[in-house]
Amino acid sequence: MRMIGKAVHYGIAVGPVVVIKPREAQVKRYKIYNTSSEMIRLEQSLYKVKNHLRRLYDKAVAEVGSEGAAIFNAHIMLLEDEGYLDSVHSIIQAEKVNAEYAVATTGTHFADMFAEMDDEYMQERSRDVLDVTGRVIRALQGQEELDFSEMEPSIILADDLTPGEVMQMDSKKMLALVTLRGSANSHTAILAAMMNIPAIVGVEFNLDGLPSGSIGIVDGYEGSLVIDATEEELAAAKEKIRVQEEEQMMLQRMKGKETVTKGGRVVKLLANIGGVQDISYALENDAEGIGLFRSEFLYLQKDCLPTEEEQLHVYKKVLQKMGDKLVTIRTLDIGADKQVEYLELGKEDNPALGFRAIRICLTRKDIFKTQLRALLRAGMYGNLAVLYPMITSVKEVTQIKEIVEEVRGELESEGVSYKLPIQGIMIETPAAVMISDQLAQLVDFFSIGTNDLTQYTLALDRQNERLDAFYDAHHPAVLKMIEMVVKSGHNAGIPVGICGELGSDMALTGRFIQMGVDELSVSPGNVLRLRAKIRDINEEEEG
Ligand code: PEP
Ligand code: MG
Repeated sequence: MRMIGKAVHYGIAVGPVVVIKPREAQVKRYKIYNTSSEMIRLEQSLYKVKNHLRRLYDKAVAEVGSEGAAIFNAHIMLLEDEGYLDSVHSIIQAEKVNAEYAVATTGTHFADMFAEMDDEYMQERSRDVLDVTGRVIRALQGQEELDFSEMEPSIILADDLTPGEVMQMDSKKMLALVTLRGSANSHTAILAAMMNIPAIVGVEFNLDGLPSGSIGIVDGYEGSLVIDATEEELAAAKEKIRVQEEEQMMLQRMKGKETVTKGGRVVKLLANIGGVQDISYALENDAEGIGLFRSEFLYLQKDCLPTEEEQLHVYKKVLQKMGDKLVTIRTLDIGADKQVEYLELGKEDNPALGFRAIRICLTRKDIFKTQLRALLRAGMYGNLAVLYPMITSVKEVTQIKEIVEEVRGELESEGVSYKLPIQGIMIETPAAVMISDQLAQLVDFFSIGTNDLTQYTLALDRQNERLDAFYDAHHPAVLKMIEMVVKSGHNAGIPVGICGELGSDMALTGRFIQMGVDELSVSPGNVLRLRAKIRDINEEEEG
């Protein structure tokens, strides 16, 4: 069985397929007539969840010791708590409603109760209650737990995955990612590129018809997925893997070489990362620095806001690992497709045009200031640049500068050591392009986010796969805008880079160099390929 989708990251993978079924987002309340069979259904689900938790406990004891495993025991105890169970039972019996609803209502009630307590330890228990409650609801709905801990390296097949779900997975266990939905420019696709695993989106398959465990082949060059491959197909895939490995060997020779064209133009070649875990991969691929650390993944991986100390720990680690190389950390760019429930931002009709990124930071100054404090403190440990996303006006930049000044003053008066990093902005809205001459007077560098710039210029939602036919990554309007931004930046004497996916589009590398783009920041797996491409460019021939 061979299916075609849209290739979003190159590479070939052969391995067992794991099918992830879409998760029920909401719990519905409905009347039941037989409360005793509903109680049995509940008992069976509780039994299943507790067994699953016991297995997780045993595995965790073996891997991280009993202290680290204790959490699973605590979760089992919660499911045996009399108060919790009484509440679930009485809702089912008194209201004659389904068990999912009774569990969800009880879970929310208990979680709120814990959250309101003064004791920090008890407040933390609120998350545990929600976690186990979710497990029971999924068991009642007949959904399999997403448990990747025991999974062998596999090809992941899913309807769609949120960036948060991808982050939960162990990248070493993902051979490839194939989704039914999702567009090439979605953050899920970008994450696959960052993990350097072959990825395809928009593959039409029926998830119910695909059993986990069958052997699949993913070809991230042509965008194909083969299930239950024939001997010939397997042999052809293995041959492609061999060629791929050869290409990788050739690329190894690019390590340590300068990123310079035949005509002598030097380009700074940086890597995009989503967290500390990507640093070694960026260094292995000889990235000259980090051009974009999407700090929001730090917020996506958690179920509450990361504290100043937690953030400092991560930023410091990244800076220390990179030594004297540049590390560009972008401030929180949450919203649109990157949602965190705990911020309770609410549903919007047009999330991509809504409350996101710098708009959240300028409104929720507390969140912004915590991140800025961590960043300024981290500045002590390396070569840091801070980058602000989704800028549309001069006013936003002046507001940011005022807040940075406020934070600096506070650290100063508290006697906390810090170092003010250089500061730049993302140019990813047409508004920012059109006033780039004014913005360039206020900042130290520009970084062009072509993913959003394309979406906003072409009025094409980057998440909507139905628009792929109208999507033109090489649209002359976008290219003209890039040229304009480079001119504005250079007139003001500041460097201009590209950190969107277009930066690794080798059909455009020559044009970017002609335009005068100073830096390209791409997923680590693309660094050496791009270096080879740039070293091959002869400006005179390109004309
Ligand atoms: C962009 O918009 O091009 C960009 C780099 O940021 P993100 O993809 O995270 O929105
Ligand atoms: Mg963007």
